[in-house]
Amino acid sequence: MRKNAAQIRAIKNEAKAKARTSRDKSRNASRQPRDKRGRFVEERKSFMKKIGEVKPVGSVVVEAKREKVKVRGKEYYIPVDDNGNVPQYALAARFTNVREGTGPNVERRNVIIDQSSEAKTVLKGKLTPEDVKEWWARPNESDIKGVDDIESTYFDLSALKTRGRKDAQGKIAVVGGTKKEQERIRMMLSESFTLKEQNALSKDGLTVEITRLTGNAGEYHGRSDGMTYRIMVDPRFLDDDTLLHEMVHHSRMVDKDRKSPLVRTRSESNFRVLVKHQDVSLEEAATVAETAARQGNYVPPDNPHYYGPISRINGKKPYKMIAEDRALFAGSAENGSNGTKGKRAIKAVEDRFDSSHISELNLRDVMIRDGIKYPDISAKDRLKTLKNNKY
Ligand SMILES: [Zn+2]
Repeated sequence: MRKNAAQIRAIKNEAKAKARTSRDKSRNASRQPRDKRGRFVEERKSFMKKIGEVKPVGSVVVEAKREKVKVRGKEYYIPVDDNGNVPQYALAARFTNVREGTGPNVERRNVIIDQSSEAKTVLKGKLTPEDVKEWWARPNESDIKGVDDIESTYFDLSALKTRGRKDAQGKIAVVGGTKKEQERIRMMLSESFTLKEQNALSKDGLTVEITRLTGNAGEYHGRSDGMTYRIMVDPRFLDDDTLLHEMVHHSRMVDKDRKSPLVRTRSESNFRVLVKHQDVSLEEAATVAETAARQGNYVPPDNPHYYGPISRINGKKPYKMIAEDRALFAGSAENGSNGTKGKRAIKAVEDRFDSSHISELNLRDVMIRDGIKYPDISAKDRLKTLKNNKY
């Protein structure tokens, strides 16, 4: 149908008004309402709409671009960004991999000693793989400004009050974001995991990168190319739903104290999250359950996440199920209530999982890719099968 002049005028005016609002929006960004955790409220909502409700772990495989370099006959693969420079996370993730890049007869490097001592050679600015290759081979023989020199903020532990807490997080690098955002990550780790658990989390190094993401609120990357594990999180999602959730995935993979099939990773690899399609509902449901058990200073989520698909199956209200599961695993779903950690958190999940709503998670209607959907099996049923087969 052809539009008449009045209709066209109306459409143009609407477009102008829209452009005005978007200009105002960016101008007002600093005054934009923020929620309790300091996130932009409006922006977060529209972002959530865009990424949809559910992104199971392992659904995105992000392969970084990398370049080969040679140092004294040995080959290394170093990640590069679109401009051919080595991204900061890669430098931090190489630095925290203390088992590699050591001198002869040395089993591991020491992050704290290296970071607090001054090297003669200091690399600065944007760096290519060629620039950093000597450092990459032996990180303790030179420094990179901002990464492992004395001014680096990646290992700023001042938010943590006790020596034990500082030691437990000394091998965790937090890259990007503001000082406040970096502190939020340190505090979350400290509040939600015991010291023993934090030591397990960082045993083989861990790099948390705060960076704007498109499509995901948080991403879990395995370790590769002589670097440590990496978790990426969007600064708009520094909450327990995202940050703690990714950390629980990581803990399930690296903490050897976990014994039962419910609380251990379903990943088939120890280097990256590789979960069989029939195990994805269980991996996610168990991770959600444990996140609910551990959340300290509880703030109810503003997105139904995995309770969306459950609600579509059983017709129950997602936020009501979330509150009931939180109370089931942590004892209370009141605002600001404390969670549990350590053995108590693990036991809460093991004992109560079967009576939770989240155990009914079944991703059968969720697309993996190109029309392929996850198999029709609930987390609870998958767990039963595993137990019957004696794992
Ligand atoms: Zn997940």
